[in-house]
Amino acid sequence: ETNCFCPMGEGNIRVFCRVRPLLPSDHAENLEHVQFPNDNGRESKVQRVFPPCSSQEVVFEDISLIVQSALDGYNVSIFAYGQTGSGKTYTMEGPHPLQDDTMGIIPRAVHQMFNSVVELKDKGWKYTFTASFLEIYNETIRDLLVDKTVKKEHKIKRPTSNAVHVTNRKYLNVETVEEVLSLIKIAKQNRATACTRMNESSSRSHSVFQLKIEGLSKKGNITSTLTLIDLVGSERIDKSESRDRLKETKAINCSLSNLGGVFIALANKDTFVPYRNSKLTYLLQNCLGGNSKTLMFVNISPKNSSFGESLNSLRFASKVN
Ligand code: ADP
Ligand code: MG
Repeated sequence: ETNCFCPMGEGNIRVFCRVRPLLPSDHAENLEHVQFPNDNGRESKVQRVFPPCSSQEVVFEDISLIVQSALDGYNVSIFAYGQTGSGKTYTMEGPHPLQDDTMGIIPRAVHQMFNSVVELKDKGWKYTFTASFLEIYNETIRDLLVDKTVKKEHKIKRPTSNAVHVTNRKYLNVETVEEVLSLIKIAKQNRATACTRMNESSSRSHSVFQLKIEGLSKKGNITSTLTLIDLVGSERIDKSESRDRLKETKAINCSLSNLGGVFIALANKDTFVPYRNSKLTYLLQNCLGGNSKTLMFVNISPKNSSFGESLNSLRFASKVN
């Protein structure tokens, strides 16, 4: 497959799979037996598989066109789905600390856009970008750009059919890649401190980076949103968890199945799409479906012991497109 825009129904999401390399901390677990889950010959709906050796640059190359289409007015959303430790954050942000060659999708996408608008400027277009960074933990929205000691409630409102607002959301004007990098750093810090304070793991929340794009020209204006989502870990319930924890885990897993439900409804062209079933899908109501573009990375760990979770992640992928 050479073209990432391979034939598929309009409105369907594209699914790419990325297998991370084995890490020293994996203790070379049964390296020789590493295998790609094959679901008993069931048709794979994955359009592209990135093997462990794929660099961040190679991965971005395959999504750069879809990112670019946000400048033409398309709402673009890219998700990372997978169990904790499978490489979602590495794919979306990059490893910590951020370095040029290993930067992930968020900084690369922004970099590409900022470069493109320099050229578009000569053609009479003026673009502005504003960024926000939210976290959804157990159906509660938090603003990752705001220090967590400032406690504000965030509600989702949809005043008109083409606007979704989050109350008290902080938007920052961004003009350079450095500004976006420092914003990712702030978000990471705020996420980490909140987690420590509340005794949570960051793998149990969605993080949602949104870039609002506005292009003005004499010929007309465009507005669109690029959304990059690092989803909660998709691992199934660990029965040894405490009762309270189990309840919470169920609720958290529920938000992933609600997302799946929305994807399935969109793929089936159902008249009713259950956006309101979770905060994440409600927030993204205007960014999914219609003529928007959606891509999901299914991140996979190469460990033998992760085989069951990997298979589960691929099953989720084959259900949704
Ligand atoms: P998740 O966000 O899904 O929990 P991470 O992105 O934190 O997983 O990845 C788990 C570990 O694996 C991290 O130490 C990360 O740096 C490393 N890792 C993930 N993907 C890759 C990759 N493609 N190449 C090198 N290291 C990776
Ligand atoms: Mg992560």
